[in-house]
Amino acid sequence: MRTARVGLRLAPAQRRRCFGLLVAAGDVWACVLDMNRWRRQRGLPAIVGYQALCRELSAAGPGTFGDLDTTGARSVLRRYSDAWFAAAKRRTGGDVSARFPRRKRRLMPVRYYHGTFTLTGRHLRLPVARGRPPLWVRLDRDPPYPAEQVRSVTLLNEGARLFVEVTAEVPVATYPPGHEPDPERVAGVDLGVIHPYAVAGPGGEGLLVSGRALRAEAHLHLKDAKYRRRAVARRAPRPGQAGSRRWRKYRARQRKLEARHKRRIKQAQHEAAKQVIEWAVTRRIGTLRVGDPRGVLELKAGRRHNQRLRDWRPGYLIRCLKDKAEQAGIRLELVDERGSSSTCPVCGRRVPKPVGRRFRCMHCGFSGHRDLVGGANIARRGPGDTITTDTDTEDRFPVVITHRRAGRHLPGAGPARRDPRRRPHHGTAHRSPGRPRPAPPPPAGSRSPTARINQHGHHTTNVD
Ligand SMILES: [Zn+2]
Repeated sequence: MRTARVGLRLAPAQRRRCFGLLVAAGDVWACVLDMNRWRRQRGLPAIVGYQALCRELSAAGPGTFGDLDTTGARSVLRRYSDAWFAAAKRRTGGDVSARFPRRKRRLMPVRYYHGTFTLTGRHLRLPVARGRPPLWVRLDRDPPYPAEQVRSVTLLNEGARLFVEVTAEVPVATYPPGHEPDPERVAGVDLGVIHPYAVAGPGGEGLLVSGRALRAEAHLHLKDAKYRRRAVARRAPRPGQAGSRRWRKYRARQRKLEARHKRRIKQAQHEAAKQVIEWAVTRRIGTLRVGDPRGVLELKAGRRHNQRLRDWRPGYLIRCLKDKAEQAGIRLELVDERGSSSTCPVCGRRVPKPVGRRFRCMHCGFSGHRDLVGGANIARRGPGDTITTDTDTEDRFPVVITHRRAGRHLPGAGPARRDPRRRPHHGTAHRSPGRPRPAPPPPAGSRSPTARINQHGHHTTNVD
């Protein structure tokens, strides 16, 4: 199952109706929460099963939830029921932090399953309650899956924008004989902040996907948000007070920027994962062994480092990679990554964690890229923490390294598009050339072309 998010092109009336559907779904959600609270107060058991909730819904009768039809309303019930049982399962497993659904939301995504909607090209008909005019919406691009593979569509919003998520059952890729991934060919994947994926493959080949653009995006967004917050802090409504119109505008803007930031990061992480899979497929790698760093995240590391880890989202990186690997017919194994970046891949002895990107072993003199050292060590780790030392390891450390960049679409990643959030970092510092700016117009009366060149002849380019 694969999911793609597609934007919508809507006329104002369609937009209103779509938001109406989301609001109605939010009402269904709120009704379920209220009903169960009411029942709890009277000592009655909560209704949580999907079938039982559907019975309650049909008892409410038609027309209770505006445009929303039964199938849409049922998708909200399904969501509630799934969330409730997932929390119950975690709680019986001993996780007391798991919570049952209890928060109301004004807008709730609505999912429509196969057979209830019509998708022809870019036109999508969403089912609506009986007696309402049909609702056709237009997608802003062709869905990436053939229409007959689409299993469900989900209408949702992000800030003030509407999207549909198209979920399809995509068959596993097929290869011509002799080109299919070979499960015996193993590559180790090290997840990192600077390099979201560092892959050490067989035959001395490696791949480094750079995440510097991603990190810059996270950093700029955080800084930008901080400035904005500071600028409007004194307009914030006090508790119990209604916000001013200006405050509401600020909040809408903030939500929009937040949503855009999330979209950018997600897109870049997907691109990074795609590059790994493409690289692996051309090298017939059938097993990707990924070091799972999530155990490390439980540790408290201070507020700066915590923020860094939140931006990193290794769980999402693993999920992306797993989805794409499955589709390409590549097996993905998670192994413990502890110590993988501080062990020498040649002599196997522990080395203090390197400060820069370069790993150096003081025992045998080996030196190589730090993230690829992690990948190479992970590739040799079995699932059950067993370390296989079969062939000579020197052959395994990547010497041919492919470099790829994630997030090339991000503003500021290329010289063509400067990120408007970035402030001139040299400023008026001593002896700094300052921000790049066009040459001033020639002084009046001057006719010589040479006068234009020298004044600001030095051209600063922003690299990295
Ligand atoms: Zn060594």
